[in-house]
Amino acid sequence: MRWWRLTLWIAAWFMTTAQTTYTDEDIKAMKARYERPPRPVLSADLPRKLLERKYEAPRLVEWMLPYQDWEEEYHQYFQRHYRDPRLTFKPSAIVMHYTVTPDAFSVRNMFLRGCKMSAGDKGTVFGHVSVQLMIGPSGNVYQLLPLDRRCTGAYGVNHVALSIEMVARNEAELLSRPDQVFSSFCLVRSLMRQFDIPANKVYAHYEVSAGRSVVSEYTDYADDTYPDRYPPASARTDPGKTYMRWLRQYLARVGPAPQE
Ligand SMILES: [Zn+2]
Repeated sequence: MRWWRLTLWIAAWFMTTAQTTYTDEDIKAMKARYERPPRPVLSADLPRKLLERKYEAPRLVEWMLPYQDWEEEYHQYFQRHYRDPRLTFKPSAIVMHYTVTPDAFSVRNMFLRGCKMSAGDKGTVFGHVSVQLMIGPSGNVYQLLPLDRRCTGAYGVNHVALSIEMVARNEAELLSRPDQVFSSFCLVRSLMRQFDIPANKVYAHYEVSAGRSVVSEYTDYADDTYPDRYPPASARTDPGKTYMRWLRQYLARVGPAPQE
């Protein structure tokens, strides 16, 4: 039966050799199967496609937080940090953020639940974080508070600023969504027009976090240790420097929204 073994051995050798001989087509097919498509390289400067898009007046979808239930808490908050307990205002600045949380529902639920909030260098208090506006991944704009109502989204400037949250885990995710980014541009232009806010009063949360040397309105009467900036452990990076460069390049080209 030796010849059987020999035949098997030759057959096995032949198959192995045949299998390792790949054609260019085979290699292409394997690459397509196993390689992820290259991630688009994000431009450091405003992409032309965004600049060329036509302005769309934002349509605010009302998704209000129960801010009436938080009045006493907010009176105390604004008295503690700004020595001005009023709940309403005429906004004179805008602060841009991203949420870190991946979807709009969980962000809103986080606002509803409440959390431990900083009370300056006196520890923390239970309270409710809020923002006036939130932009979903596809560019929908949700209104969570009336626009003349102070929010607690940007510690240090909440007495003067509107806060806009963009739902994204990080800056790269945000910048990879042209509809969301463009929606934020249109919203900012619209608010600039509505409240007569100049482009140099559109801030990043990381700039507010750096404090009064960058953002002149920065105020905090509750922190004697860091009265003019965030404590280093609380420093912010949202919404990212590239997003802000795009936004500022855009605003420099187009200015506030056209009169409606
Ligand atoms: Zn933020």
